[in-house]
Amino acid sequence: MLFDTHCHVNLYPDVPRLIREIEEQAIEVSLVTTEPELFPDCVQLVAHAPHIHPALGLLPHEIHRLAPQVECFLEFLPQTRFVGEVGLDYVTEDDAERRLQRSVFERILSACAEAGDKIISIHSRRAADAVIERVGRNFPGTVILHWFSGSPKNVTSAENCYFSVNPAMIKSRSGKKLIRAMDPAFILTETDGPFVEVAGRPARPSDIRQVINFFSRDWGCSHAEAEARVAANAIRAGLG
Ligand SMILES: [Zn+2]
Repeated sequence: MLFDTHCHVNLYPDVPRLIREIEEQAIEVSLVTTEPELFPDCVQLVAHAPHIHPALGLLPHEIHRLAPQVECFLEFLPQTRFVGEVGLDYVTEDDAERRLQRSVFERILSACAEAGDKIISIHSRRAADAVIERVGRNFPGTVILHWFSGSPKNVTSAENCYFSVNPAMIKSRSGKKLIRAMDPAFILTETDGPFVEVAGRPARPSDIRQVINFFSRDWGCSHAEAEARVAANAIRAGLG
């Protein structure tokens, strides 16, 4: 049983084929969205695809355009357990922009905490400390740090957070170092397709098998055993 906890299904050039592929292979996929207003269309898109779960998102790196949609986010939130992608992106050095990102993210987190059962895929580029601090140690719900690129020290401080590992991370030296700092009981898988590429084409959920392969070598177990361990994590996280 494979899980792709962060895939932009609606952004592929061949959406109907991709949906068919996911359903045929019975991969559990979280369809993460970039802005709240797109959520209803994504719900429609996968209405007949029981393995694909639409998530409600608001991208931090487009905060000036998207901040007004936070009301829309809060309105749709009761419709789904899946949230993402949301978070902070400190590639910008503009203080006002970072402040606006934080205020939106804090509203999102507190609404999710109040609900208590959300599964949240979080973006934290150059903002690992700020994200981990806001999530806290005992967030009510499931927190998944997606494509994590903080430090190994951040990994240890992110107690009770899951990490979703994608095919790009297993290829980079820094990615592998981070993966090895993670508690294997908190590891999940993702593609972040179509943004992550595999062999020069957009990653597809079936490429999760490459990540499982990496774990099986790293953990010294069979492919089936590595797949079962990750699936057990996903089920504990509420994904299965
Ligand atoms: Zn993404």
